[in-house]
Amino acid sequence: MEDRRALLPSTTEALAHPTLETAVDQYGRQRVLAALRQALGDERTRPSTAAVPTVDEVADATVAVIELTAPLEAVVNATGVVVHTNLGRAVLSSAAIEALAVAAGTVDVEYDRASGGRSRRGRHVATLLATMCEAERAHVVNNGAAALVLAVAVLCAEGGREVVVSRGELVEIGGSFRLPDILTSAGARLREVGTTNRTRLDDYADAIGDRTGAVLRVHPSNYRIEGFTERPSLDDLGALARARGVPLVHDLGSGLLRPSDVPQLAGEPDAVGSIAGGADLVLFSGDKLLGGPQVGVIAGDAELVERCRRHPLARALRPDKLRLAALEATLADHARQRRSSLPTWRLIETAPVALRARAEHLAAEVGGRVVATDALVGGGAAPTEVLASWGIELPGDPEALARALRHGSPPVVPRTVDGRVVLDLRSVPQDEDDTLLDAVRTAMP
Ligand SMILES: *Cc1c(COP(=O)(O)O)cnc(C)c1O
Repeated sequence: MEDRRALLPSTTEALAHPTLETAVDQYGRQRVLAALRQALGDERTRPSTAAVPTVDEVADATVAVIELTAPLEAVVNATGVVVHTNLGRAVLSSAAIEALAVAAGTVDVEYDRASGGRSRRGRHVATLLATMCEAERAHVVNNGAAALVLAVAVLCAEGGREVVVSRGELVEIGGSFRLPDILTSAGARLREVGTTNRTRLDDYADAIGDRTGAVLRVHPSNYRIEGFTERPSLDDLGALARARGVPLVHDLGSGLLRPSDVPQLAGEPDAVGSIAGGADLVLFSGDKLLGGPQVGVIAGDAELVERCRRHPLARALRPDKLRLAALEATLADHARQRRSSLPTWRLIETAPVALRARAEHLAAEVGGRVVATDALVGGGAAPTEVLASWGIELPGDPEALARALRHGSPPVVPRTVDGRVVLDLRSVPQDEDDTLLDAVRTAMP
């Protein structure tokens, strides 16, 4: 039998196909050729008894490969998880989007118009942040993990000083990134204290010594240890750290500026309270509860923040002009108490009855069933507290339906409850209802 591989269309032959000629115009020859080689490579690994693909089929497979690597696409988040890390976390406010558009051009991100010289990058936003956190100073980096790396590098890297941290807080923050690895990669030695469920003030007191660079407290953002648990209050830990002359760093994770009146967020620490409670530095993300772009914030003691800002790593971890602009616009809404301008907060604070009314309307249109659901804030906030919500349970084969929704235009990411496909409206901005409706209509058999 002739070798199947020898019968496959050649690249020259395939490239001459009209579909691929169009694709070359659209994507460029280099991308099309790479995708074609991959499509042919996939064919070569198939069994020798498999049918030999036609040139048409190879051309279609090539376009499919290119589309898999297409740019980011807008999707409807019907998972019921408001701050969904895999779906890009916070949805930016319209003010933040406008600020992004302005910053896309030439802007004075590091330029002082008064003197005509260089100025400190992000100075306005750092000042605004410090004010809002009631901190002496603030500094912005690339993301929450970068804030932790920089703070720990400043406090512990020199001479491999110890970071004292409870065993109950050495967590994995998602995407298989583990806190202990982040801390050691920043040059700190770990000094673990206590046990998984109980760590007492004395455990910290015993561990603090000549080699301590910092005491670290980490907010248990994506888990809860339940049952027989104990950890000292932040105030007590702050008092101990102060008495022993070591800085206390509090990784808040989700980034509430002040206590929230949303009952589900009552247990979330906030920047203002944490600094008042004795933290020398607080760290948090910009794209979780703050509702802004991906950044990491370091706020607190002026001298420590200044050391972070001047550390060589600060340059490697600095945010770009787009994020600084979006962050400033987001903070401006917080400063004016206009939380409802921030889509993340609008989603969290929508009354369940409003979600139910929307669910009823959508269900009537597509023939689904209205169901009550338990939604989540997500983004490492209140992992065990649910937000009451409503959704539409769709009839049909759940796997096929979920796949059709994910491949729709626009794609819809549903949730699965008891093996049924449910569109949870807690995470869908109201102005996306029509888009959702169209997408569901096309996906349903
Ligand atoms: C989310 C989180 C981080 C990481 O922040 P990123 O912005 O994702 O880098 C670190 N610590 C805690 C406690 C978190 O919740």
